[in-house]
Amino acid sequence: MDHVKSLKCLICGREYRPDEVEYVCPEHGDEGILDVQYDYDLIHSRISPASLAQNHDYTIWRYKPLIAVEPDSPTPPLTVGWTPLYRADRLAAGLGLKHVWVKDDGRNPSASFKDRASAVAVVKAREKGAQIITTSSTGNAGAALSALCASVAQPNVVFVPESAPPAKVAQLLVYGSTVMLVRGTYDEAFALCAQAAREFGWYNRNTGFNPYMSEGKKTASLEICEQLGWDAPDWIVVSVGDGCIIGGLYKGLFDLYSMGWINKMPKILGVQAAGSAALYDAWVRGIDAMAMTPIEAHTVADSISADLPADRIKGLRAVRATNGAYVKVTDEEILAAIPVLARGSGVFAEPAGAAAYAGLVQGIKEGRITPDERVVILSTGNGLKDIASARKSVGEPFVVDKDLADVKRKLAGQ
Ligand SMILES: *Cc1c(COP(=O)(O)O)cnc(C)c1O
Ligand SMILES: [Zn+2]
Repeated sequence: MDHVKSLKCLICGREYRPDEVEYVCPEHGDEGILDVQYDYDLIHSRISPASLAQNHDYTIWRYKPLIAVEPDSPTPPLTVGWTPLYRADRLAAGLGLKHVWVKDDGRNPSASFKDRASAVAVVKAREKGAQIITTSSTGNAGAALSALCASVAQPNVVFVPESAPPAKVAQLLVYGSTVMLVRGTYDEAFALCAQAAREFGWYNRNTGFNPYMSEGKKTASLEICEQLGWDAPDWIVVSVGDGCIIGGLYKGLFDLYSMGWINKMPKILGVQAAGSAALYDAWVRGIDAMAMTPIEAHTVADSISADLPADRIKGLRAVRATNGAYVKVTDEEILAAIPVLARGSGVFAEPAGAAAYAGLVQGIKEGRITPDERVVILSTGNGLKDIASARKSVGEPFVVDKDLADVKRKLAGQ
């Protein structure tokens, strides 16, 4: 990994060699999240927009020289990333904007954005020779780890809160993970998973702890800019729970800007559920990540429910460093956004994915986004992940007798 200069603590700024520390800054314990520092000149000598134009690997691994893995490490066979970026003119018109795109990350192998990070976790764990990988998850990070591990027969243990939607738990079991349904919140599952990892020596994929997860998640930004011909958008809109995705998006943009592949940094709009808005509150009140205290999170969008966001340092930096903003949206607005997004673009998102659309509506209402600005909405998870929530936001079907006359009556509204 000669392209990785160091792992830098985002609290004290101390830098470590990748072989010197495993996950966090030893000075700052579990809170000392590390940020991978790259040698951009060296990377730019190995990969460029021109070389990418000739590259037919349409997965996150087309950016391998820009990811903190060994160049010769084998990568899992599942097709992660290079998800479609759809122009959504009808949605744009409805919002009073000219240029809107929807990136459908529900198209990943386990149907969420989390595959990007879990693919990197599997590679890193194998570089370390780990026997078992573990993670805690609201559902999707676990499902992603399960799928990626299944693709290379890698044993793994996943901790999820008992309240996780049934489709996500089914994914874990089908892929063959050892599943721990925790009687508690996601934050409590996170703590238990960390204890187990330490006790048993398992490789820990936890968000906001393992520094390499941001490096997988950043590939969405690399793709967005490449898919737009390296003409970066003005805004990227994404829902936020722990803050790892938004932090990763920022990192990818920072990489591209540092190498001169894009000529401006897009602003990032972070969207939180009103009942799980710790980062929104900290941003509004100008509070430092280290001064944040846990809330009691409640939202229908289970994927973005977090009492104390694990990746809060990177999550706040993403918005502050890009002059972006945080907004919050209610559960009603999130549920209502599911059919609007689906009907306006053809993309069916789970509540946390549709929350990004609801947040864009809010950002426009607050006057943050002007009509000419180019906006990318990131749909982070597939709607089939949580059909119970989706059904709450739509009407009922007609139920008809086996009789055309009844079909006619129903069509006529009788
Ligand atoms: C995990 C997740 C998010 C939020 O990502 P964080 O890194 O926790 O902020 C958003 N949407 C979906 C579908 C997710 O699975
Ligand atoms: Zn430190």
